[in-house]
Amino acid sequence: MRLIFLAFLVPQKYFPAFVNSKTSSAMVINQNTSKLILGITVIILLILFIVKKYVTHLKDKLYSNYQQLLRANQELAVAKENLQINYNELLDKQSALITSEERYRLAVETANDGLWDWDLQENKCYISERWKERLSLPESAIVNHYEVWLGQMHPEDEARVRQLVKDYLEGKTDKYYIEYRLRDAFDNYIWTLSIGKLIKDQFGNNLRMVGSHTDITERKEYEEKIYKMAYYDGLTNIPNRSYMIEKLDRAINLSIELNVKGALFFLDLDNFKQINDTLGHDFGDQLLKTVSDRLISCIGSDFIMARLGGDEFVILKEIITSKSEVEETAQRIIHLFQNKWIVEENEMFVTVSMGSTIFPDDGKSVRKILKNADTAMYCAKDAGKNAYNVFDETMLETVLVRKEMEMDLRKAIECHEFKLFYQPYFKANTREIAGIEALIRWFHPQKGLISPTEFIPIAEETGLITGIGEWILREACRQNEEWQKKGYQKIAVAVNISTLQISHNSPQLLKGILSESGLEAKWLQIEITESEVMEIVEENILILNQIRESGIKILLDDFGTGYSSLSYLKKLPLDMVKIDRSFILDIERQEKEIVITEDIISIAHKLNLEVIAEGVETQEQVDYLLNHECDFLQGFFFIEPLCAEEMEGLLKNNLSL
Ligand code: C2E
Ligand code: CA
Ligand code: CA
Repeated sequence: MRLIFLAFLVPQKYFPAFVNSKTSSAMVINQNTSKLILGITVIILLILFIVKKYVTHLKDKLYSNYQQLLRANQELAVAKENLQINYNELLDKQSALITSEERYRLAVETANDGLWDWDLQENKCYISERWKERLSLPESAIVNHYEVWLGQMHPEDEARVRQLVKDYLEGKTDKYYIEYRLRDAFDNYIWTLSIGKLIKDQFGNNLRMVGSHTDITERKEYEEKIYKMAYYDGLTNIPNRSYMIEKLDRAINLSIELNVKGALFFLDLDNFKQINDTLGHDFGDQLLKTVSDRLISCIGSDFIMARLGGDEFVILKEIITSKSEVEETAQRIIHLFQNKWIVEENEMFVTVSMGSTIFPDDGKSVRKILKNADTAMYCAKDAGKNAYNVFDETMLETVLVRKEMEMDLRKAIECHEFKLFYQPYFKANTREIAGIEALIRWFHPQKGLISPTEFIPIAEETGLITGIGEWILREACRQNEEWQKKGYQKIAVAVNISTLQISHNSPQLLKGILSESGLEAKWLQIEITESEVMEIVEENILILNQIRESGIKILLDDFGTGYSSLSYLKKLPLDMVKIDRSFILDIERQEKEIVITEDIISIAHKLNLEVIAEGVETQEQVDYLLNHECDFLQGFFFIEPLCAEEMEGLLKNNLSL
């Protein structure tokens, strides 16, 4: 249609044959026809050109459309792929959601969690059934009210919980995470972890709190076990050193801050090592438990007591009102140990040495205060059994000297610094030598001669007495055998034995020493001290019996100063008693003592025991003792202890004085 229309628009000059049709000849007609054909051809060509152009244009357009379509198609494919991926992810998420929801449901159902919802406006607190079940409480037991719920709380936790809740609600803390104990229907406490969140309205007012309850009893018990292990002594169940150090540190700081005073007592059992060795460790453990229990009930709840280890106990009074309060407490404790104890059917005397110190006067650090109390105790030990000392600075020097002595003592045997001296005792009527007592002397390379009264107690405390005691026995037996071999008159040697040396091994050890030296058992005597042997009388009697059965004679030293009653004296396997020097000293002075000395002699005789009087210094004493039929006499009146050479000289020349 457009082609036809274009043809009519062609101007007239291109078609002259049509314009002059009336005047034309045949030739003209032919010319015109040719022109016409040419014109038509041109037109057709033009039309064809235009058509071609148009078709090309159309084709281009079509191609571009096709390209666009192709691109769109590709994009669509990519989009489809992405869609598929998203879809797959969605599927995954959905299944994960289902799994986690399932898990959460399971968790809530199976765990101890309970839920709570506290309406702060109405002050009503909804607690989920699960939690009421956990506390074995019937639905009706707890009204959904905050205060009622608090009523289930442990009294020790209530104030703390109230404060924490208040702080959270007032915005002072940003987390609500509280642990406390709730009482169940059987009056057991359930440790509960409460976690919650505050919900506010659009104006910022507190609306409600929601949260959960979790039973953490098991965890708490576990924590407590760990705490106990760290801060309590496994044997006695009382606090240990770590606990005491923390409490003492706090108490010292508090005393400085508040300008008050506190006191620390240091206790150490006397002869515990020996008890342990003789009666066994199980018995030792039992004794420590008994001591701990009795001390606790003696001091009461105002004090904190800990076992530092071994047989050492420490008692802390955080605040004292006066020094007399410290004295009074010490006396109470000492009194506790004055009477005989029965531990696992064993009757015994248990005693302690005790020291005290006051803080912050005597020191401001845990180390110093512990050391002071220990030092005071150490000096009390020196003073004898069941003694008590209050710390003063001069004690530090004493302790230093003792420590030094302890170190020197350790080397003394190897360095041959010990020597035995011998003091004879005589038959009272004939004044013949009846025996000799071996007495140790320490010749210190720097300090010179040191008395046994100075170093024997230290050797006993440190356990060094075992080695030293063995050396004394060996040397005394060897020396006596040597003298006997030389042909001097045979006499017995009496060796002082510390009770710490008496153990189940003693009979065997003594036999060994005798056979090693070649000395016959009847020429060995052992001197034991009454007060010491009575501490663990039953067990010692067994051992002493074995010793005596082997032929060794047993002599009770310092007789009259100990605790022994006649019934015990009867039980002890003895051959002789040695009346303590204090009674001999007083013979001429006090009527009362004279009577006692008389009594001692006659009691001993009634028990078929021979009697030695030690420390005889005067003629009056000799006369008195002779009059009262004392069997043997020993003392400076006759002769002082002699070194081995002097003793040999005496043996050689004269056997009576
Ligand atoms: P003890 O067993 O009662 O010994 C008697 C002490 O009195 C001895 O002192 C002796 O020298 C002293 N003495 C003797 N006669 C008289 C006297 O007439 N007047 C005075 N004032 N004193 C007299 P020593 O040797 O210094 O011994 C003191 C304590 O040391 C002994 O008392 C004993 O308990 C202990 N001891 C001495 N040697 C040994 C030993 O070898 N082993 C053990 N375990 N302890 C010993
Ligand atoms: Ca003696
Ligand atoms: Ca004595």
